[in-house]
Parts: sequence; structure tokens; C-alpha cells
Amino acid sequence: MSFIPVICLTSPPRVVPRSFTSVGAYPLLYLTESDSVLCADCAAQGDGDDPTATCGVNWEDPHLTCDECSERIESAYADDEDPS
Ligand SMILES: [Zn+2]
Repeated sequence: MSFIPVICLTSPPRVVPRSFTSVGAYPLLYLTESDSVLCADCAAQGDGDDPTATCGVNWEDPHLTCDECSERIESAYADDEDPS
């Protein structure tokens, strides 16, 4: 998996991560130091034992889920749009 880095909001730690980038509304995911994938909500709650290390955009993995709460993390391009 490769992540394209965007502005990372995990430092300073008081900043609350956002679920989407400010430009383009791409879905954001967060990676902890042990490479767990977190959604923005779980990244915002923080984990002292496994702090959030970086964040990126989930471009095209439709099956990506948060390791903490199992919430699906939307992808920027892989989601099929329902034409009807
Ligand atoms: Zn989560």
C-alpha cells in the first residue's frame, strides 16, 4: 500500500484530525507507528501506546477499514457511483 501524504494534523497533538482533505474532499486515513490504519475519529482519540505517525489519502482501496473501530474508510476513486 502506498499513501500520498497530505497536510498532517496529528501534530501538535491537540489538533483534531479531519476526515477529509480541505481541497478535493479526499478521504483521509491515519497510520500509527505500528502501521495500524485509523479513521479520523479514532486518530482524534489518540492512543499513547501507538501514536498516530502519519496520514494520507485513501485513493482507491474500497475495502480499507479502521483497525480500531472497523469503520469503513471511503476511497477517493474506487467507490462505485450509483447511476440511478
Ligand atoms: Zn476508527
